[in-house]
Amino acid sequence: MKSDSYNAFRMAQQQFDNIAEHLSLDQGTRDLLRAPMREYHVSIPVKMDNGKVEVFKGFRCQHNDALGPGKGGIRFHPLETIDTVRALSMWMTWKCSVVDIPLGGSKGGVVCDPHHLSTSEQEKICRGYIRQLADAVGPVRDVPAPDVMTNGQHMLWMMDEYETIRGAKYPGVITGKPVGLGGSLGRTEATGFGVVFTLREALKELNISPDKTRASVQGFGNVAQYAVQLYHQLGGRVTCVSCWDQAESKSFSFRKKDGINLGELRGITDRFGGISREKAAELGYEILPGDDWLEQDVEILIPAALENQITAESVLKIKSSVKIIAEAANGPTTPEADNVLKERGIFVIPDFLANAGGVTCSYFEQVQNNMNYYWERDEVISKLDLKMTSAFLGVSELARKNNLFMRDAAYIISVNRVAEACRQRGWS
Ligand code: NAD
Repeated sequence: MKSDSYNAFRMAQQQFDNIAEHLSLDQGTRDLLRAPMREYHVSIPVKMDNGKVEVFKGFRCQHNDALGPGKGGIRFHPLETIDTVRALSMWMTWKCSVVDIPLGGSKGGVVCDPHHLSTSEQEKICRGYIRQLADAVGPVRDVPAPDVMTNGQHMLWMMDEYETIRGAKYPGVITGKPVGLGGSLGRTEATGFGVVFTLREALKELNISPDKTRASVQGFGNVAQYAVQLYHQLGGRVTCVSCWDQAESKSFSFRKKDGINLGELRGITDRFGGISREKAAELGYEILPGDDWLEQDVEILIPAALENQITAESVLKIKSSVKIIAEAANGPTTPEADNVLKERGIFVIPDFLANAGGVTCSYFEQVQNNMNYYWERDEVISKLDLKMTSAFLGVSELARKNNLFMRDAAYIISVNRVAEACRQRGWS
């Protein structure tokens, strides 16, 4: 999280301001939409395993709920900041809007590093976070989900705490729960698969056959692994992935020019998406500096780690072979880098469209919770494909007709929907 190299919230505001200007939004709507409607800052005291109390800082930002209850993940990260959470809550609003689901945008975070926390300490943080925010969240108010370094177990502890406080069952208070305890089949793979559904459509539009393409991926966590899986099924070849090495405090890239073996790499990856360098070297992978994933001779780049990775400086390293960037991570490209990508004619599938599969499946999870009836995995995945494909086609059609950059077209559709909902509610 390079939060000081580029402030994610400024970036989100800059992107919004450009679109507000393009859409000639009135000042009231601009003021309403360029910052979260509500923000919560909490302190979570936790009795650690050594008997001492440590206080963890947490945030929840609710950017806009004109289209429905807020929705957005909770990240556990040592460098989490309120500005990152603000930006991410804003991007959640545009994300729910672009895929046309009846939800608003929220995001949460706790400043902590699960690498250095026991299971019991993590449980106490989860329960403490929800205790502080029990009145701010809820199935018809704001629904959290997993994100960076949080998972179904964290969500289950949070749901359990909420239900204990309310004295009743509320499976819809949180999504990303384990299957069998209110979770939806297909949720784990939904974000990565969603990225590849949009990538498949982009390839069709550019008349490129997937089996003639190679891809390089930043990150090897939940999103990256499932994106690689489905892209391989389409016939593509991933030649490079990267990850963060906790012990060395830097990132590394892992390259195999003939294509990585997903199963083999998964087998030597920890639960945080960190690949063992020693074992990868034994398996014949070239170990390269972390930023090398961006400099590969491939047709497709998939940033699937964190924000601010493709910057004014690093964008110049992208090879001329690259035709498509599918932004799996949130905010991986800065506005300056965007200008370079536009000039070079690289087809960008913007983050809030490309990675909307997770929230779309979270919405399906809520629908199933409300019905108390659960769908088969194939039904979930095919509904997800339908939603992602139709959102992609809506954006790409607008982009084609008006000669727009895909990110601008996606913003126009999303911001218009939210602004219209605000107008109809009499908020602006
Ligand atoms: P994760 O924690 O499972 O994996 C993150 C991966 O990125 C790990 O492999 C980690 O080693 C790697 N990484 C971290 N810093 C890096 C760096 N500087 N260089 C190279 N690799 C680095 O997280 P995830 O759930 O896969 O999420 C990845 C991105 O996708 C995030 O931006 C997240 O906000 C976004 N996202 C996630 C979901 C979801 O459903 N999980 C949904 C939408 C968007």
